[in-house]
Amino acid sequence: MPAQPLQPLLIVVSGPSGSGKGTLCKMLREAVPDLVYSVSLTTRTPRHGESNGVEYYFVSREEFLKLIDAGDFLEWAEVYGHYYGTQCSAVEASLNAGKDVLLELDVQGGQMVKEIFPQAVTVFIRPPSLEELSERITRRGTDDAVAINMRLSCAPEELRAAKIYDYVINNDLKEQAFAELLNIYEREKSIRNQSKGE
Ligand code: 5GP
Repeated sequence: MPAQPLQPLLIVVSGPSGSGKGTLCKMLREAVPDLVYSVSLTTRTPRHGESNGVEYYFVSREEFLKLIDAGDFLEWAEVYGHYYGTQCSAVEASLNAGKDVLLELDVQGGQMVKEIFPQAVTVFIRPPSLEELSERITRRGTDDAVAINMRLSCAPEELRAAKIYDYVINNDLKEQAFAELLNIYEREKSIRNQSKGE
């Protein structure tokens, strides 16, 4: 009998700005090179060191609004004063090809994807405290004071959304948080592969 194709996994990681979700996602991508990372579109301006097509596709508000009208987005949201969105095409093509996909989304996007793909696995990254979050955002030095305040003011509301996620990881110690994320990925893969074999 031919081998059954493995069930692809759609994994969504969310958390407040400064929670460390970007670092944890990067570590997961390095550990699982076959995992497809969906590069989002955004209307925010690139930070120092960011390149178009790597961290994001940087587009104008006009372009973004046109893509919304064209129905190009699987999900999109206005976050911290800018638009961010995931295009359907790349995600669907990867899942149809049996590849696992990683999405790093804000909590609105996370909720939307879970509604569209109830089988998606959602993971929320929680910082140890709001004080620590504030220190981390300030320390990383990627945002100006206005952007930092906007991000911090959204954090309490974002933290309340943790309850709708399948998993919550406390990102106190990076290595430990990463081990948990990898464990979730591997466990969810094995659950899917077992059910496929039944
Ligand atoms: P940043 O500006 O720090 O790169 O991202 C701001 C927020 O937007 C983060 O919470 C990030 O996860 C989220 N984000 C990035 N891409 C997308 C996307 O395609 N859709 C949604 N809903 N949020 C996104």
